[in-house]
Amino acid sequence: MHERLLLEQIQAQSAGLESRFPSTLVVGPGDDCAVLRSPSGDLSLVGVDQLIVGRHCTPDTPVDLIARKAIARGVSDIAAMGGRPTWALAAAKLPAGFARARELFDSCAAWAEHWGCPLVGGDIASSQGELALSITVAGAPHPTRGPVLRSGARPGDLVAVSGPIGDSFTSGWHLSFEPRIQEARVLCDALGLSLHSMIDVSDGLGLDADRVARASGVTIEIDAASIPARAGSTSTWRQRAAHGEDYELLVTISPDAVVPAPLSVIGRARAPENGEAPGARVLAPDGTLTPGSELGWDHG
Ligand SMILES: [Mg+2]
Repeated sequence: MHERLLLEQIQAQSAGLESRFPSTLVVGPGDDCAVLRSPSGDLSLVGVDQLIVGRHCTPDTPVDLIARKAIARGVSDIAAMGGRPTWALAAAKLPAGFARARELFDSCAAWAEHWGCPLVGGDIASSQGELALSITVAGAPHPTRGPVLRSGARPGDLVAVSGPIGDSFTSGWHLSFEPRIQEARVLCDALGLSLHSMIDVSDGLGLDADRVARASGVTIEIDAASIPARAGSTSTWRQRAAHGEDYELLVTISPDAVVPAPLSVIGRARAPENGEAPGARVLAPDGTLTPGSELGWDHG
């Protein structure tokens, strides 16, 4: 089944989960992380993500960079909620005869510590097929802003990104990116509740903006010409908006707020008009509009 449809089905089945578990669950499936409440009342973030060799990186990728990318993707989802990472778990499915398991877990542990979240456990199983790593990362939300959800965008919001979009594979950025923990912290500090929504751009700017728009019930319009490009990029705006693995923050903020560095404004949110469904669309320089849902990884 199409991955997007399957996720939507799972989320639909999970609707109302928060009301059935009000003492422990604040935000269930559908955001970058779940938001949990401990018995003492503290909130925590937790998310899980997979890295599959042959899909998220090529089979000749060094083991250390495979580990780095797997941990960094999980850390980026914590940043997307405005949090800081606190601990991580790793589970690996190793190809039969894989001789570098120790090196892989040592690297996972080292990168997890690098981003402040000790690797507190893991599991290994061997099977046919490529190496796959499943990483769970937990985090603590910003102490005053609290968790920043993708569902908080409002009509009138400015839409902005924290850095260049596109060319992640050709530049090697997808293996070397720095999860935007510090930037997320700065945005929470500077904007507080004027920071309405946030997501990390993993599957394509258009598709991830579409997720924010639909979760928030708004229309997001992005101006293609204002999407910041990596230095030396020769890609078209359409390629850059669709390739993904940027791991920059995509935010919507109150139009009254002073836009802090390093944000670049790329569009606006508005109320859906004349019965249109919530969603994102990108306005090209030639005046054509492309649905955001068509600009991203099609995980078929
Ligand atoms: Mg994410």
